Amino acid sequence: MNVVYVDNNATTPVAPEVVAAMEPFLTTDYFNASSMYEPARKVAHAIADARQTTARFFGLSDPGEIEFTSCASESDNAAIFGVVRANPNRRHIVTTAVEHPAVLEVCRELARMDYDVTFLSVDRQGNLDLGEFIRALRPDTLLVTIMHANNETGVVFPIEQLSRLTKETDPAIIFHTDATQSVGKIPIDLRRDFPNVDLLSFSGHKIHAPKGVGALYLKRGVRCRPYLIGGHQESGRRAGTENVPYIVGLAKSLELAAAGFDDENTRVRGMRDRLEREIERRVPYIEVNGRGAPRLPNTLNVSCHCVEGESLLFQMNEYGICASSGSACTSGSLEPSHVLRAMQVPEAAVQGSIRFSFSRYNTEADVDRIVEVFPEMVANVRRLSPYWDQAAGAPRGV
Ligand code: PLP
Repeated sequence: MNVVYVDNNATTPVAPEVVAAMEPFLTTDYFNASSMYEPARKVAHAIADARQTTARFFGLSDPGEIEFTSCASESDNAAIFGVVRANPNRRHIVTTAVEHPAVLEVCRELARMDYDVTFLSVDRQGNLDLGEFIRALRPDTLLVTIMHANNETGVVFPIEQLSRLTKETDPAIIFHTDATQSVGKIPIDLRRDFPNVDLLSFSGHKIHAPKGVGALYLKRGVRCRPYLIGGHQESGRRAGTENVPYIVGLAKSLELAAAGFDDENTRVRGMRDRLEREIERRVPYIEVNGRGAPRLPNTLNVSCHCVEGESLLFQMNEYGICASSGSACTSGSLEPSHVLRAMQVPEAAVQGSIRFSFSRYNTEADVDRIVEVFPEMVANVRRLSPYWDQAAGAPRGV
């Protein structure tokens, strides 16, 4: 059976070019970058080149502002705990109710440690209220941590504006963004577009590099304690022998993303938009979550009234269609999505949400296949639902 993989916000296939770039560092050039002999120099150079490529991708001239990590969760933990530990005089943090757990749970942990945390709400479209944001900033605010793009809905927050307002209110407040879902999907020039962002996290496996590598941008001069200590690697900021093949792979994946930005994202957006139109045309009583807000080009989140998302996933699985009913980390539990809850998606629809997320490896044939089977699946599941009035073709009581 042909697999239709539309779960690229969960993870992506590794690009063949990335595999090729990594290969020598898994086989012949396996040396420890810190060793003194000649063959190890090539390995140390490869890390330096990867750092340079990563910095250039973000419009940075100083590669020393890039720290390689193992994943975005580590980058988020390192950023938030690092800033908190380096700046003990302030104890208020501003974040949103729709962050990925890698930020949300860290903030909840800080709240348990008697930090004061403000969790900003979003509206029905998934947008933040700028007035509420400005009112949340206080003289004791230490850190603002707000994601760039939401992993479940693809809604993009106005990070340029939020970070500028933060610094205009108080230049001492540190601004972190989790850009795990936006890196590689929308261009990010930190110097030109986001000069007020101090820290930015992302991960390799969302952009066709392998799982197990990520990075953190840390603007020079921003006070942030190292997270992993016990080694000199990453300028003493992150101890542990460097994962050279994966670091090289991450840089290669950024190079590929930069080279293909315009063409690929136009094509990906075209597939997403067509799927959205076709589903809307064929399936009554759905909500396209986040449509009223700026969105990533690759993400479509639909909630179908009177349907369990898990039943749809199960049926799609039978047809080889791999999608998701929420963030990968929360799937497996039947807890309704905290993001859709925060967006006040109607209760009858929140359980029936499906996320389709595309990458450059998808084709129009994938869209055709989903359009062919998805409406029928929804109809089948609804036929069995006590909340669905089959004769009326509508939810009961509508
Ligand atoms: N932040 C966001 C917005 C994500 O979407 C994810 C993964 O889905 C993460 C953080 C965690 O990424 P990683 O798996 O690299 O730790």
